[in-house]
Parts: sequence; C-alpha cells; structure tokens
Amino acid sequence: MPDVVPTSAPRSEELFARARAVTPGGVNSPVRAFNAVGGTPRFIRSASGAWLTDVDGREYVDLICSWGPMLLGHAHPEVLAEVEAAVRRGTSYGTPTEPEVELAEEIVARTSVERVRFVSSGTEATMSAIRLARGATGRDVVVKFAGCYHGHVDSLLASAGSGLATFSVPGTPGVPESSTALTLVLPYNDRGAVEAAFADHGDRIACVITEAAPGNMGVVPPEPGFNGFLAETCRRHGALFISDEVMTGFRVTRTGQWGLDGAVEGWRPDLVTFGKVMGGGFPAAAFGGRADLMAQLSPEGPVYQAGTLSGNPVATTAGLTTLRLATDEVYAHLGSVADTLKTAASDALSVAGVPHVVQATGTMFSIFLLDGGPVRDFDDASRTDSAAYAAFFHAMLDAGVHLPPSAYEAWFVSAAHDDRAVQTVLDALPGAARAAAAAQEGPA
Ligand SMILES: *Cc1c(COP(=O)(O)O)cnc(C)c1O
Repeated sequence: MPDVVPTSAPRSEELFARARAVTPGGVNSPVRAFNAVGGTPRFIRSASGAWLTDVDGREYVDLICSWGPMLLGHAHPEVLAEVEAAVRRGTSYGTPTEPEVELAEEIVARTSVERVRFVSSGTEATMSAIRLARGATGRDVVVKFAGCYHGHVDSLLASAGSGLATFSVPGTPGVPESSTALTLVLPYNDRGAVEAAFADHGDRIACVITEAAPGNMGVVPPEPGFNGFLAETCRRHGALFISDEVMTGFRVTRTGQWGLDGAVEGWRPDLVTFGKVMGGGFPAAAFGGRADLMAQLSPEGPVYQAGTLSGNPVATTAGLTTLRLATDEVYAHLGSVADTLKTAASDALSVAGVPHVVQATGTMFSIFLLDGGPVRDFDDASRTDSAAYAAFFHAMLDAGVHLPPSAYEAWFVSAAHDDRAVQTVLDALPGAARAAAAAQEGPA
C-alpha cells in the first residue's frame, strides 16, 4: 500500500498519447477517458483481489470492479483455475457445450426466468429482448425512462421529445430519427407519465424497459411499488415488461434479480436481461423470461437472433464459477463494506461542508454532490456538482483509491475488499472531502 502517491503517471501518459493516435479518445468505452474529471486515465497492468496496479506500479483500491462484474474481486483463484482449464480445452467451437447448459440451469434455478439465451454484451441482451417483445406482441412502440441506460442500442439512445408521451429524438448523431420515432422516453419514478403514455399509445406499446433499480444515473432506487406498477400497467394493456438487470442481476442479491426481491405484489417481469456479474469478467450476457415468449426465438420460433461467440465455453465457465462462489456470506460482506464506505464518505463530506445525498440499492450505492434530495429521476441527478466531484475523484486517486471517473456512476465493492482496502478508503476520504469543498461551484 503506497503512503504517498505522486499525481503524475508517466507510463499512463505515454500510453494515453499512443492510444489517442490509434483509437478515438484513446479508449474503447467513453467513460474510461476521464473526460468528466479531467486528467489522464490510469492504464492498469494487473489486478488482484480489491487492488489495481497501474503501468507505473501504483496500487489503487478498486471501487469500479469493471463496472460491476468483479463481484468476487480480481483474479479469484478458483475462477482462474476453472478458466485456465477451460482455455486448455479450446476457446470456441461454434457448437453447443456443457458449460452453457450448466450456466443456463443455474440462472433458471435462481431467477424468475424459465428459458434463457446467451449473448456477448448487455447491449445485445436488451436489443434482443426488445426485438423479441416486438415480435411477440406484433407492436412497435418501446417505453424507456430518462437516465436509464440499456447499452448503445439505436432505439434506446433517445432523448425525450417536446412533451410527455411524445415520441423521442435521437440522443446521438448516427441514430436516424426513424430509429427513435417509436421510442417514448419518460421521467423515472413518474406514474402519471406512464399512465399518460399508455392512455395515448397503449395499443401500440410492445414493451416497457427499465433498469430494475437504476444505477446508470447514479443509484436512483424505484419508489416502493414502482416496478410492480409498471408490470401491472403492461399486463393491462397487453404490453411486455422488460426488467434490465444487467447491472443489478447477481450483484444486489444472490437470487439474481433485484426487481424480483424488491417486489411484494407477486408480479414477475416478462423478460429479463442479465450481464456483468454473470460473465465473471468475460464478455457474456443473457436475456430470458417466460417459456412461451422465449419459444418465439429462432430456431424454435420466428424471431431471429444469433451470435458467433454466444455461450462461449470460457465465458460461461467464468460466469458459472462466479455464481457458484457467490454465497450468502459474499453478499453479507458486500453489504457491510458498502455500509462502512457510504457512512464514512457521508461523514467526511458533512465535516467538510459539502452538500450531498447518499442513495443505495442493496450493496450498490452512489453519492450525489448536490443539495436537497432524494434524487428521484434524471433531472434531479443532473444537479450534481461536477467540479466538486472531479476534485474529490482526483484526491481519492492520489491517495490510492480508484473511484468511477464520473459523478453519475455507482461505486462497486467486492468480496475481496478486506480491512486493509477499506482502511485505505477511510484514510483517503477526509482529504478528498476537503478538496471537494474547495472546488464547489458557486453558492449552493
Ligand atoms: C452495462 C449495462 C448495459 C450494457 O451492457 P454492455 O455489456 O456494456 O453492453 C445494459 N443495461 C444496464 C442496466 C447496464 O448497466
């Protein structure tokens, strides 16, 4: 554990310059570029347990955990052993294999889904679930919520139109208006907006897709009963309810689905998407649901969907081993580490006089640097003081703690976050909170 971490990162600087010469922004996924916090991203050479080691040899407590997947920590010995054995048997055959059957059985046993199909990314999972929902209902319109992220699917990279229940506009160049013209973007946690959308377009709505508990605008839990309300509204109108658990699935609870454990009304989502933890750090994701709906998929049914590396034997082995090792004790440990960290962060920010709101869904939490609260939707989250977060982030980084380089992300912990890792974070917090206080934007 380094006592003093210099802020310069010469090898990372050099690699970043080389990366930018050959890759847009120097990264293969935008958030990694540090655009939201400034500075040079740390190029990581290796990771073990709760720790990342960068190419300059500095160590950081990892609070990104690959944006969720590394539930057990990095380079877990048993996961590595199974993966190494799988690699020696060959890495891809393009034929059915035993590990994919075992992983599917594990997911079916633990969750509400009756059939599951594997893909290689969460984006593919949501894209395929929406295609299936449209194919099964014979309808075209998709409802999503502002601030919920479902991967970079054309029809979901949409911004709200000019009013409630009006069709949306592309959220990025390169997405044609025709791709988002059938998407309705509504404010999260807003039952009235959902009712208005169904009143106007109910017989055209194929599905509502929502993060089971949003983590991609920071952690914004559904208000009690909101998911059940969505499921029931869909049922009444003959639409399907897609619960996107790519982030929450197997991270928040052992039984896979936060949205399910969170429900008391006895509803079930029609389709569910998974990713991140179920891939154990490999490119694997899935969508699943009711058997009759999944039977609509090719080759059993007419809705086409396929993938060269889908159900890859190495990836499914990593996922299966991870899920088998994710015991109740693991989730209890994640919960206690998360509690310690969020309490300490909140205390440090209070002492430094930085207004903030801590929100959590199970062991997934985030800290919004803003006055007031709770944060109910994307508009609320957008009031975050980005300058204060950037200062906080860099002070933590300098003290050996790697937070997500964006104010709108959850902090992730793992089973490998032990006392030494936690203490490193606790030691870093007061200074980072003072840095945030000094950088606050104008009067609150
Ligand atoms: C990460 C994420 C996705 C996209 O998954 P990728 O594997 O990055 O394509 C989709 N939905 C949610 C809720 C996510 O958190």
